Amino acid sequence: MDCPFCAEVISDEALVCKHCNRDLRFALPLLTENEDLIAQLDELQNEAVRLREQIKHGRNPLLYWTRQFVLFVLPAIILLLIAHYVIVFILDQKTLYLRVVSMVVPLPFGFALNWFANQTPVRVGLLGFLGALTAVFAMATVTGFHDDVPILPDSVQDVREFIEYSLSIALAMTTGGIFATVARSILPKSMSSKRAPNPAAMQLAVMLGPHLGKRALNRRAVKIEAMFNTVGALGGALATAMGSIYTGVRFLFFS
Ligand SMILES: [Zn+2]
Repeated sequence: MDCPFCAEVISDEALVCKHCNRDLRFALPLLTENEDLIAQLDELQNEAVRLREQIKHGRNPLLYWTRQFVLFVLPAIILLLIAHYVIVFILDQKTLYLRVVSMVVPLPFGFALNWFANQTPVRVGLLGFLGALTAVFAMATVTGFHDDVPILPDSVQDVREFIEYSLSIALAMTTGGIFATVARSILPKSMSSKRAPNPAAMQLAVMLGPHLGKRALNRRAVKIEAMFNTVGALGGALATAMGSIYTGVRFLFFS
């Protein structure tokens, strides 16, 4: 931690600053307490958002999910339909361009679902899949009327492409949701030294360095834990993004 008087780095356990020789006995406990209070407030605020969402959900689940869908998924569907019409019918371009656009458009909406409505990536994926099926079905309807062809897929091959395209959109949305998790874990927040870190992270913190005071060790373990969470979430985002690309362009190579 930093000395409150000269801002040099000092040990958490120090009683006197080794740089400016000032007495820290009264200042440090106050600083630590303040830091812990900020961290607690942060957690309570997050908890309040979660509880508020749960109450809304408990009162009327159907209304709740409809609202989530209309607010965060429907705008993505509308954008995808506009992209479909412009790319395929106005610009007369390859389906590949539409597939690539369909991997990008859902990202911010998945992000928003996690960021503003606190939906887990799995829920984002499920809502996204529902929206994707709606969008792909609507595209097929537009094409059906425009080109006078059957709307519903009429071969196993077509059904497969229909589902894969929907999956690609849903996975892109999930990727956006995981990005929000990553962003939340990277954002600077006060690292409380009182929060109990995960035992494995604590073990690593002890292994990583010379013996430190308990508080400093705790702080290091909390940092390690946050880093692992971030790396794990980034791995998840990478996996869903690859899945989105694979299911989105597979039809080009195997049909
Ligand atoms: Zn100092």
